[in-house]
Amino acid sequence: MLENESIYDVVIVGAGPAGLACAVEAGRRGMTHLVLEKGTLVNTIVGFPTTMIFFSTPELLELGGMPFTSPNVRPDRIEAVEYYHGVARAGQVNLSLYNGVAGVERADQGFIVRAERGGYRAHHVAIATGYFDQVNPLGIPGEELPKVSHYYREAYGHYSQDVLVIGGRNSAVETALDLWRHGARVTMVHRGDSFGRSVKYWIRPDIENRVAKGQIAMLWNTEAVEILPRAVRLRNRETGEEQTITNDFVYAMIGHRPSVALLEACGVTYAEETLVPTYDPATFETNVPGLFIAGSVACGSKTWEIFIENGRRHAAVVIAEIARRLEGSK
Ligand SMILES: Cc1cc2nc3c(=O)[nH]c(=O)nc-3n(C[C@H](O)[C@H](O)[C@H](O)COP(=O)(O)OP(=O)(O)OC[C@H]3O[C@@H](n4cnc5c(N)ncnc54)[C@H](O)[C@@H]3O)c2cc1C
Repeated sequence: MLENESIYDVVIVGAGPAGLACAVEAGRRGMTHLVLEKGTLVNTIVGFPTTMIFFSTPELLELGGMPFTSPNVRPDRIEAVEYYHGVARAGQVNLSLYNGVAGVERADQGFIVRAERGGYRAHHVAIATGYFDQVNPLGIPGEELPKVSHYYREAYGHYSQDVLVIGGRNSAVETALDLWRHGARVTMVHRGDSFGRSVKYWIRPDIENRVAKGQIAMLWNTEAVEILPRAVRLRNRETGEEQTITNDFVYAMIGHRPSVALLEACGVTYAEETLVPTYDPATFETNVPGLFIAGSVACGSKTWEIFIENGRRHAAVVIAEIARRLEGSK
């Protein structure tokens, strides 16, 4: 079933910063466009920890040259969500929210994009689906217990509880600090012997001091091997020694990876090891002619390589290339 008979110049999949930037750019160039989004506008950012503060300063999160002002050096999640609402409004972005895309098929004059509410015809497609929806699994027994989460929202349900935080990169460190500051008893376990390089320079002294003072218990070279309803079994990777500690909640902050299901359903190939889609870095066109990618979906499992600051720039390249082709087809 086709939702309507229009053929959009470009259908954009995903209303995160990259998808929004593509839509604003397309609108400026007079292209017809539609953004299909499985959740709400900037769904990923809406799902971040409630009191999260960006590491970027506001101007580095701007889209389409629209000013993002804040009284703070680094904006928080709410400021960013409000800013992106303003971008969508000012950029007259044509959105279809809560309308996830399952696949893209070749059709006369381009594609049919198959979404929950029907099919949409497009001369070109840009996939900007990010990586936040799929987590790296621990792959251990007990991971499915309700006390285990791969996403952190806030500390307030964990006052005076024993919470294990797994990981050693920025999100694990920020989670541990926030939990400790709001009354949880926190233990961190990390497979390595030091915090990751991604830990921000203004956060690193904080976590190092909490660990040095014994306020947050830190177990290096350690991995969780089993999660039990009231405990966690841990193993030292060097000595093989095991210990079981009392535990109420587990946060497995071990990163994300893009879902390749949609890429596969669109015929886009990708590197098995890194999950990086096949694309031309000069245009962001994939191995499927006329189908482009934008934003952090392009970085595969190396999720630290593309973020809003640099991913937003893909939009100008993708849309300029689509404009060139539309011009050529007249
Ligand atoms: C805690 C945290 C803090 C961060 N801080 C910063 C920062 O300070 N500065 C910075 O530059 N970056 C930061 N990042 C990274 C940044 O959030 C991401 O790089 C950015 O969101 C990527 O933008 P995107 O548009 O490519 O993907 P996303 O923002 O993930 O957007 C993808 C969109 O696609 C939608 N989608 C997915 N699948 C489908 C489908 N099948 N159909 C329809 N829609 C779909 C999703 O719902 C989502 O809305 C941070 C990340 C985290 C986790």
